[in-house]
Amino acid sequence: MRDIRFVLHEVLHDEAHYRDLGRADIGQELIDSVLEQCARFTEEVIAPTNEPGDRVGVRREADGSVVTPPGFAAAYQRYVEDGWAALCGPAEYGGQGLPESFGVPAAEMMAAANMAWKLYSGLSDSAVLLLRQHAAGDLRRQYLPQLVSGEWLASMCLTEAHAGTDLGLMRTRAEPDGAGSYRITGTKIFITGGESDFAPNIVHLVLAKLPDAPAGSRGISLFLVPKFLPAADGSPGERNAVGCTGVEHKLGIHGSATCVMNFDGARGWLVGGPHEGLRCMFTMMNHARLWVGVQGLAQSEAALQVATAYARERRQGRTTSGNDQGGADPIIGHPDVRRMLLTQKALIEGSRVLVYLAGLQLDKSIHHPDPAERERASGLLSVLTPIVKAFVTDRSLECTSHAVQIHGGHGYVRETGVEQYFRDARITAIYEGANGVQAMDLLGRKVLGSGGVLARQLGGLIGSFCEHHARYDELVGFVPRLAGLLKEWSEATEAIAGRAARDPDEVGAAAMDYLMLTGYLCLAWCWAKVAAVSVAALHNGAAEADFYRAKLTTARFFYARLLPRAEAHLDALAAGAATLMELPADQFAS
Ligand SMILES: Cc1cc2nc3c(=O)[nH]c(=O)nc-3n(C[C@H](O)[C@H](O)[C@H](O)COP(=O)(O)OP(=O)(O)OC[C@H]3O[C@@H](n4cnc5c(N)ncnc54)[C@H](O)[C@@H]3O)c2cc1C
Repeated sequence: MRDIRFVLHEVLHDEAHYRDLGRADIGQELIDSVLEQCARFTEEVIAPTNEPGDRVGVRREADGSVVTPPGFAAAYQRYVEDGWAALCGPAEYGGQGLPESFGVPAAEMMAAANMAWKLYSGLSDSAVLLLRQHAAGDLRRQYLPQLVSGEWLASMCLTEAHAGTDLGLMRTRAEPDGAGSYRITGTKIFITGGESDFAPNIVHLVLAKLPDAPAGSRGISLFLVPKFLPAADGSPGERNAVGCTGVEHKLGIHGSATCVMNFDGARGWLVGGPHEGLRCMFTMMNHARLWVGVQGLAQSEAALQVATAYARERRQGRTTSGNDQGGADPIIGHPDVRRMLLTQKALIEGSRVLVYLAGLQLDKSIHHPDPAERERASGLLSVLTPIVKAFVTDRSLECTSHAVQIHGGHGYVRETGVEQYFRDARITAIYEGANGVQAMDLLGRKVLGSGGVLARQLGGLIGSFCEHHARYDELVGFVPRLAGLLKEWSEATEAIAGRAARDPDEVGAAAMDYLMLTGYLCLAWCWAKVAAVSVAALHNGAAEADFYRAKLTTARFFYARLLPRAEAHLDALAAGAATLMELPADQFAS
């Protein structure tokens, strides 16, 4: 909580941000009160369901219904009754009308408490955004109030067995039925929350092809397909021809129902224009990608809390900082354990600034009164989204792995619970577009596709931070290094653009190193911001001096021990495509 408040109030100046959006009614007191209530709800209602959810998992009954783990559905009822579902929902559809950024710390806390549980409601927020922007008025009126209140849930149905990343290959089809609606036929796999016992209705957002669809991804349309067709009074009426025919058994998130969904001439309604489905779905997917980054952050944070407590208690061997007479010392005194803990702390706290910053851009892109500001925020958000999705989730694999390592063998076995974070985090690098695809999105579509405009926008923000802070002696360990890395990053961006013009494989070959390099650059910027705030707080004699000193110590650790990774990514980038493409496919394994 202290770190969340620090990031929002002191680093990102959330009060001023909300004022700029015309929401002077949102002050620090309101924000803190929401955060505290959320923390209490998360701790008391959600966290107790995490371990049983992992152990028991979900079950599909013969009739196609899905039974979620003990306590899940009841916790969801509390979530709806206490108004958490409607927190950021638009007021015109019954929501509390708070800007989207409010949902970010709330989602972080909830996903840290139980990621599998939070997945059921996570997609509803993205669906609300999608329907608000792309659905016709009558669909919005019919479905948004129930989705906003949380009474009904949503699912996102894209993937098919032979069409994962490459959605253009999908076979699900939609035929007009002459009554203004369509009949959807096909099978979708891996659908999160496709079926559950949480809510009386589920609104599926389904990608399918119309009979006259052009080939490939340009021929995809989007349909709203309810599990129950709403009756005249709006309540769930006749059952639609859609059902769950299986649930997956998985490495992690055992409490989340990952469903095979069969559409057998199910009735659906077009959202957006014909063949515009992928463009509309991107509204939902981009929102969901930010939200997957939050999941990665949340798993890292939860694992660090457990690992820190363990490292303070577990006694093995002697350390120079130990003061026991004769007995063993807490392992937190061992330099290597400190390396692992500090790596997690530096990656998590730096990422939190980045993720919350992206949340504020989302607000601005929707609510800022000035259209030019909305467009600027949209541009920045579009470049930050793949970084938040892929960099933060990739680092969550590292952070949760360190947390297991700190527990030794006790981390590998189930009792301590830490291995669950490691398993649960693993999916975040895969779904909502595998991280390699995010890297292509960043470099290919956003950076090169915008002719360098979006990269210059991000670089401009970091550059102006450096200019404004160059004169402070206390920041000499951070700002010159950040400015130097920014220059190297800009040069690398130009060099790749030049190589890509000659050989398209250069983009794919550079993409992941470029994304990681950009991620470390962004985190260096975030840590320099944190350092600037902490130096000022100490200078002004702020209470909690230890908190700000710890921030400066962690910032120095990040710059000294993690930022050198950026240089390795620069070297790898410069190596070019040939080092990857030369080896014939039949020589990879014999
Ligand atoms: C637990 C879980 C929940 C899910 N929830 C949903 C959901 O709610 N709705 C939904 O529609 N789907 C969902 N998915 C599906 C998920 O989004 C896909 O698994 C993912 O997009 C990858 O597709 P794929 O599995 O077919 O892998 P493939 O597309 O076969 O890709 C395999 C690997 O190849 C690489 N790759 C493929 N194409 C490219 C490329 N163009 N560039 C670079 N690398 C590439 C990537 O490394 C990728 O990991 C879920 C999956 C799981 C496991």
